[in-house]
Amino acid sequence: MDLFEHQGKEFFARYGMPVSPGEAVFTVDEAVAAAERLGTPVMVKAQVHTGGRGKAGGVKFAADIDAVREHAGNIIGLDINDHIVKRLWIEKASDIAEEYYASFTLDRSAKKHLGLLSKEGGVEIETVADENPDAIAKIWIDPVDGFSEADCREWVAAAKLPAAAVEGSVDILQKLYTAYTEGDADLVEINPLILTPEGQVHVLDAKVTLDGNSEFRHEDYGQYDETQPRDEREEAAHAKGLQYVGLEGSVGVIANGAGLAMSTVDVVNQVGGSPANFLDIGGGANADVMAGALEVINNDPAVKSIFINIFGGITRGEEVANGILEAMQRVDIDSPIVIRLDGTNADEGRAILAPNLNDKLMMAGTMLDAARKAVELAS
Ligand code: GDP
Ligand code: MG
Repeated sequence: MDLFEHQGKEFFARYGMPVSPGEAVFTVDEAVAAAERLGTPVMVKAQVHTGGRGKAGGVKFAADIDAVREHAGNIIGLDINDHIVKRLWIEKASDIAEEYYASFTLDRSAKKHLGLLSKEGGVEIETVADENPDAIAKIWIDPVDGFSEADCREWVAAAKLPAAAVEGSVDILQKLYTAYTEGDADLVEINPLILTPEGQVHVLDAKVTLDGNSEFRHEDYGQYDETQPRDEREEAAHAKGLQYVGLEGSVGVIANGAGLAMSTVDVVNQVGGSPANFLDIGGGANADVMAGALEVINNDPAVKSIFINIFGGITRGEEVANGILEAMQRVDIDSPIVIRLDGTNADEGRAILAPNLNDKLMMAGTMLDAARKAVELAS
């Protein structure tokens, strides 16, 4: 789950990290009211689930209320990397002497946490990595050993942060690691971490990705789930508890199991078509689940044919066949359906489908044939 910057800062603040006061708002009037409460100057910041907002004109300094009104008006509705800005964060502006970079993420190949720290912050870390890789200090942390204050000091020294920034950074980085581990995050990034002219180290931006599977451990993570960016189709599928990802093509895909669903997307591409979605209905394929899946796909106007790809495992072929037939009675489907049914009791399932086949419901012997048929119908 990706957090908005302001959610990330609220998350960091819970672990005692210094962030600036601010308010999340949705309109120009609310932005002005927030700036009046906070006192100018403020920053007007687009809240979108993508980086590089500054470069795209989504982060502006406002010296007075007129500037707040002007910037808020310009930023709301702005398109930043295909994300339309609907929400702003109005934050008390900080004075900056220097900008640093800090992050923790998981290095899967090393089976350790990886921390990156650089005194070249404010720009994208990829750019620093390309142009000046020595300016990034890396630390690999074994989760069992943890991250001690001594480890942290060594890391800060390796990054060659100036003396004035050392104590503040050591404090923040230890808290950042606690937020990352206790908060079940996959990524925490501060860019920039700043040193103010008064010598304070302070968090100016927050990028946080939380592990959605840890929601059961964190009562309040539902709020982040609600603000995930989803298109309308994904919203509808999510509400039905389906594993759905919207794509750009015209062949609707339903499969049982994430691996098979991915293979189905691949095979549709392989035969020259393009999938409208990824949809995994999970192990079972009963009428309820199938009806829900067909409904979501049927509501996508781009869909021209539907490819149902089922490999019976624990779920038997006849259950799947009955589920599909019952679902088709419940949902009025516009596009022709091609079914590939294999696995446990596939023959029994096919026998149930056979008398119901017509030009709206077809069956293919193999996955490849089914893909070809579905792509042909979609074009
Ligand atoms: P990003 O472009 O999406 O990474 O957004 P950031 O929140 O990192 O803001 C981009 C840049 O705007 C920062 O690197 C800073 O240089 C600048 N900036 C952000 N907040 C402030 C602030 O409070 N005061 C000043 N002077 N500059 C700021
Ligand atoms: Mg930033």
